Amino acid sequence: MDTGTVKRVAVCVMLLSMPNRSAVFAQVTRPDAAAPLTEQPSVRAALDWFGKNLTWINDEQVRLTEIPAPSFQEEKRAAAMKELLADEGLKVHSDKMGNVIGEMTGTNEIVLVTAHLDTVFPAGTEIHVKREGERILAPGISDNGTGLAALVALARAMRVAKLRPQRTILFAANVGEEGEGNLRGMRALIDAYRAKLKAVVVLDGSGTDHVTTKALASRRLEVTVTGPGGHSWSDFGMVNPINAVVRGAVRFINTKVPATPRTSFNLGQIEGGTSVNSIPHEAKLKVDMRSEAEEEIARMEAALRECVAAGVRDENENARDRSKGKLEWTVELIGSRPGGELAGDSALLGALRVADAAVGNESRIERSSTDANIPLSQGIDAIAIGAGGNGGGAHSLDEWYEPAGRELGLQRVLLTVLGVSGVVGR
Ligand SMILES: [Zn+2]
Repeated sequence: MDTGTVKRVAVCVMLLSMPNRSAVFAQVTRPDAAAPLTEQPSVRAALDWFGKNLTWINDEQVRLTEIPAPSFQEEKRAAAMKELLADEGLKVHSDKMGNVIGEMTGTNEIVLVTAHLDTVFPAGTEIHVKREGERILAPGISDNGTGLAALVALARAMRVAKLRPQRTILFAANVGEEGEGNLRGMRALIDAYRAKLKAVVVLDGSGTDHVTTKALASRRLEVTVTGPGGHSWSDFGMVNPINAVVRGAVRFINTKVPATPRTSFNLGQIEGGTSVNSIPHEAKLKVDMRSEAEEEIARMEAALRECVAAGVRDENENARDRSKGKLEWTVELIGSRPGGELAGDSALLGALRVADAAVGNESRIERSSTDANIPLSQGIDAIAIGAGGNGGGAHSLDEWYEPAGRELGLQRVLLTVLGVSGVVGR
């Protein structure tokens, strides 16, 4: 960790408010030097590029959003991103997981900038972008059409402005952020680059109002209860997996969770059975658990297991006809996102604050569950931020985005990234 950060932030803010000081500074600024970024001509050119090319950025966002990319089926959108990043002169490759990585080469140390490719919408969802005045609408348009468009815009602005980073910047469009993707794309990126990583900047969704520095821990579990199955009339009285799941779920719902540390659970999906007049042979229940304290999640998981065991036991014991067998059950981990927190005096948060000051933005610290969970849980500096403009209705079919003012968000992203990568002077 860089203990000089706080001082540096103060110095940078001061310098930003003093015009025409560039001659005082050396040609090459290092990430560990006080860097008046906005005074460098190439940085200014890149910052200006965004406002002059909004139509191009918006169009790319629409084009990318209209390529379906449910988690585990991101290939087509990944291929489009690969082409876009290669067009910007980056050394581009795909890893085994399906992540697309474009390299802007600097020193051995790496700053990783990512945007997730996947959406929560299943294949076949209507994702054609509609326009209503300034607003564009489509599932996934903001989450994460905005982040992907920003990734490309960032690379393009830097190329056009001939802006070279001191440290290597990797631009990654990663798979598997949403739901049962379980952050698999980010896990692979961190595994591949861990030793050289100095900072990770995750671009997720729209806005400029927040910076996620705290990773919300979560765990997702799937309960499965199976039995022999039968006919609703002739086999009445035998064990029923849906009954057992309901019995267990009702017990679990009554589990007390604390308000502080903030803790939540959600019974998110329940399925099973084949028809209304059949005793099912299987029932499933998916549960999401989150907490500011990981021990609360462990406590909830233990409670869920106990409740399901009790529900199955009740159903087995209450069956009138046990001749055809009894119920079996499992509780399986289908997702786990570890928690973590960025230090208040980290260089990365310092860079974000300098960027906020430079563009006249204010943002609040947030705790959330994002791709940044993985680096943060491993002690690697990381933040997740929106990439500008305004959006809403994430994960719904009515999702929307308004690009007005997005240049400010993109400038904020660029200055944050350059703040940790450093810039080679002209
Ligand atoms: Zn997202």
